[in-house]
Amino acid sequence: MESTLKEIEQITRMVIQQLNQTPDQTCRPTHRPGIFESMDDAVEAAHKAQREYFEYTLADRQRFIDAIRAHLRTKVDEMARRVTEETGMGNFPHKVIKNQLVLDQTPGVEDLQSGVFTGDRGLTLLEFAPFGVIGAITPSTNPTETIMCNSIGMLAAGNSVVFSPHPGAKNISIDTVVWINEALIKAGAPENLVVTVAEPSMEAVGRMMKHPLVSMLCATGGPGVVRAVLSSGKKAIGAGAGNPPVVVDETADIEKAAKAIIDGCSFDNNLPCIAEKECIVVDQVADYLIFQMQKYGAYLIEDRETITRLRDLVVTETGAPNKAFIGKDAHVILKEIGIDAGEEIRAIICETPGNHVFAEEELMMPILPIIRVGDVQEAMKLGVKLERGLRHTAMIHSKNIDTLTEFARVIQTTILVKNGPSYAGIGVGGEGYTTFTIAGPTGEGLTSASAFTRKRRCVLVDGFAIR
Ligand code: NAD
Repeated sequence: MESTLKEIEQITRMVIQQLNQTPDQTCRPTHRPGIFESMDDAVEAAHKAQREYFEYTLADRQRFIDAIRAHLRTKVDEMARRVTEETGMGNFPHKVIKNQLVLDQTPGVEDLQSGVFTGDRGLTLLEFAPFGVIGAITPSTNPTETIMCNSIGMLAAGNSVVFSPHPGAKNISIDTVVWINEALIKAGAPENLVVTVAEPSMEAVGRMMKHPLVSMLCATGGPGVVRAVLSSGKKAIGAGAGNPPVVVDETADIEKAAKAIIDGCSFDNNLPCIAEKECIVVDQVADYLIFQMQKYGAYLIEDRETITRLRDLVVTETGAPNKAFIGKDAHVILKEIGIDAGEEIRAIICETPGNHVFAEEELMMPILPIIRVGDVQEAMKLGVKLERGLRHTAMIHSKNIDTLTEFARVIQTTILVKNGPSYAGIGVGGEGYTTFTIAGPTGEGLTSASAFTRKRRCVLVDGFAIR
């Protein structure tokens, strides 16, 4: 009898051991790390990974982020080239700068600065805790930049992340997730901290947004996706569209302003949400500004009939930008209306009224309408109107401190660049860290690791205060 019991015990132990060794069949990864056939599998794997990740130290998190930076640096040229090819938008050298910028200047764990209160009644800590699994939706205009930037910030904060990339940039987005996984695996991180699906689609985004294991959503894109995450019932960060005006007054350094505006508005063919989309200039200096802009690579269209032809080409009948020309080179657009310009032409400029579709719509093309106004008060008022309360980005060129202060107060954008190109606002030629998720609508601003945390308070009563 005793021997039978021992045998049964032994068999039971072996079965349990075998069960423990059987690979988890519930999540079906593809043969590529971090890439899953179904959204449910991706979320479940990220959830499991986040629980393991919670046991790792802050030093480990930083080590994993350093590994991502180092590995992805070797891919920057490939990312820039392939995004330009796959999306048909933007230009290679600027995409190199953008990707490099993310790897160099996205904050890591140093962003999580705990708070402390001490006094007669003890000590209270304010800590930044992970949210869990974050569902991140990324755009076609900065696909690799947003995936890398979100991964660094979200992992620094102790989360895992499930990406829903734009289907128009799916191949390079998936490869970016694979490369991030290669770096993480080599550095000894838990598997599946950063995941996505093999076939990104609207249906997959919908499943991700509704999945009970996803505790935070972060959308970087146009108004539709921001509305969708804000009505999800979950904690959501919305980084939406902008229509950044640039104001130039009579006190500005006009040569410097002209160069900064053309540099900014032609950067990656005007794809960045922060790029100068319309220029409002005081009449007194308008002619000189336009003259200087041409020196810095702008092509001026003067006659009304050609401006109308350009409008009919790049704007659809419904008033939306014609997708065929989003992010295209200026000389390519000009060729379509019969103008032969060289590749040195970086932007198209033309004078328009303030209510022209070029000024009111976010075209994301290197076309800059110039609106001439009587004085700086009128310029600021029109700037506020065209920004439409999106709380995104604006620029101003002026040497008048009162004007600079007043514009900052009235425009209320998340980023305001004074006397520089728009990209100074995300750390290129201006101070400060970078991000490619600028959350105006939900107020996190230029997101970094701390935006992806839950703030927790830990109170010790009547102890540890040593004053
Ligand atoms: P998009 O809105 O077409 O797509 C962005 C992402 O949202 C994609 O992954 C897409 O599949 C998804 N999506 C779109 N509609 C959705 C919906 N209703 N429900 C769920 N998911 C949805 O944007 P795009 O053309 O790829 O990018 C350009 C836009 O994004 C511009 O408006 C630009 O200003 C904005 N943008 C903003 C920021 C920022 O930080 N604020 C950064 C980059 C781009």
